[in-house]
Amino acid sequence: MSSAPRAEKICCLGAGYVGGPTMCVIAKNCPDCKVTVADLFADKIAQWQDPDHLPIFEPGLSDLVRATLGKNLFFTTDLESAIREADIIFVAVGTPTKTVGIGSGHAANLCFLESAARLIARVATTPKIIVEKSTVPVRNAETLMRIFTTNPDSARLFQVVNNPEFLAEGTAVNDLLHPDRVLIGGQTTPAGHEAVRRLADVYAHWVPRERIITTNLWSSECSKLVANAFLAQRISSINSISELCEATGADVDEVARAIGMDSRIGAKFLKSSVGFGGSCFQKDILNLVYLSQSLGLTEVADYWEQVITINQHQKARFTERIVHSMFHTITGKKIAVLGFAFKKDTGDTRETPALDVVYKMLDEGANLAIYDPKVPDELMWEDLRHGPSLSPPARPMPLEERISHVTDVYQAVEGAHAIVVCTEWDEFKTLDYERIFGSMVKPAFIFDGRNILDHQRLFQIGFEVHSLGRRPLT
Ligand code: NAD
Repeated sequence: MSSAPRAEKICCLGAGYVGGPTMCVIAKNCPDCKVTVADLFADKIAQWQDPDHLPIFEPGLSDLVRATLGKNLFFTTDLESAIREADIIFVAVGTPTKTVGIGSGHAANLCFLESAARLIARVATTPKIIVEKSTVPVRNAETLMRIFTTNPDSARLFQVVNNPEFLAEGTAVNDLLHPDRVLIGGQTTPAGHEAVRRLADVYAHWVPRERIITTNLWSSECSKLVANAFLAQRISSINSISELCEATGADVDEVARAIGMDSRIGAKFLKSSVGFGGSCFQKDILNLVYLSQSLGLTEVADYWEQVITINQHQKARFTERIVHSMFHTITGKKIAVLGFAFKKDTGDTRETPALDVVYKMLDEGANLAIYDPKVPDELMWEDLRHGPSLSPPARPMPLEERISHVTDVYQAVEGAHAIVVCTEWDEFKTLDYERIFGSMVKPAFIFDGRNILDHQRLFQIGFEVHSLGRRPLT
């Protein structure tokens, strides 16, 4: 006979894109649970306490915070109290790609995770379930358990489970409310099973039991890296085919439709684009490559590295096409960049393909007006100052002289020679393209890096239209 779910005290270390929304959804669906989200950064915590000015944009998130804040959802910088009080501690800190030292450029930087684990080991005195929510290398839980043995009490008191997050930014709230599956990995001991069951009971407040699957720790950790690798691989696969289509006269959207109707292949993630971005796909594949290399699995590492190679190639060849189509020079020409976020419905710009495209166009001497409906000004300039992570600029770029960040799309295109669409924002589909055409230098070019616009209509208006995976309309 199953007992009633416990009114767990839950805390989460890390109030970012994963920790924040995940805890909001738990608080909403588990009114008996007290949920506290703790972060090192006071500014971020202050923003979470104001539903109108949250630190991240996600559709539906403000309403969720408004409904739970101060009732059973709390944000704090007092990590120690949050840890002491909790029964279940989620660790949702960043695990970005290392930029210096051993494994730099591939391995995950685990310093935030280690410092969170050390803090837990130091301050916790009662039994805890520690949930690895961050995406981690396989067997990372072993590292956490070793850190916990630095305090003999905590080693005895703690159970580590892995519960990877599969949400996608831009649809995070919906993904959390209606997940395809919740995955929980635990130790194959009675205490491990009990920890998995208690976490499953939390999710079972709103997720059907048949969607909550349990595995051993290593399968769960591995599944997260593999899920992202497979998703990114589909994008690189269709993007590689887009180049073949351009060279042969086939149309990549027609090919995607034709192959996607095969139920063994499926229709999702077959949209050709300028390339994938975001904080996870590239980082997690690089991590998988590093892990495989560390284990001496050279062919496995080489295989997955190709997904990144094609992604880099797609961004580069898109920009080369812009230059070649515009009479082999864009020096001194104004180009309007529509979209800077790595995908629609988010203000996140981590690993955005727009940055690679912008940098290559700067290198060619273009002047750029960038418009994005959600990316904050300071974030855009910070990204521009850093440059793309895998192909940083060889020399400093004259950013302020040659780039303007505009808040009106019609201002961006005024007097431009070309429009380059880098993000698939819905609003770009319904702009007044007759008006835009009238305000641009002729011939007026459109390069649709997301294949979202009505190309035939744009061609009829007078644009020269370039998209991915098909011949241009000239
Ligand atoms: P993020 O950078 O938005 O948030 C991480 C937060 O952790 C930051 O606010 C940071 O200040 C905080 N932090 C760092 N060290 C801390 C500590 N010791 N104690 C408390 N807080 C600390 O990162 P994110 O996008 O939320 O990603 C978090 C993890 O989830 C990563 O491992 C990522 O790979 C994974 N993930 C991300 C997504 C996504 O779409 N962003 C999806 C699935 C999984």
